[in-house]
Amino acid sequence: MFPDYQYLMRRSVSNSLKKQVLQRDNYLCQYCWASLTLETAHMDHAFPRSKGGWTILDNLRSSCPSCNLSKGDKTETEYRTELARKANIASYFSDILSSSFRK
Ligand SMILES: [Zn+2]
Repeated sequence: MFPDYQYLMRRSVSNSLKKQVLQRDNYLCQYCWASLTLETAHMDHAFPRSKGGWTILDNLRSSCPSCNLSKGDKTETEYRTELARKANIASYFSDILSSSFRK
């Protein structure tokens, strides 16, 4: 199936797409695990739009407003690395990071 170019380039996330992302993510912020609703949730682009990331289900993460704002245009991996460092549990997370991202 060839993707609908107009749809992929559209900047805003439709409510139905937002609902799909939230359902997949169990209505939890994917960075700090805060619980979210359709009203409070932000849609984070795992690979930032500013770097060419698409607004599609696979590239969207449920996020609370504060995580979405502080992530900015970092990629998901960059932001998770930063979070781990901040939380001072780097050794715990580096095991997870190395198994998920260094395949
Ligand atoms: Zn969060």
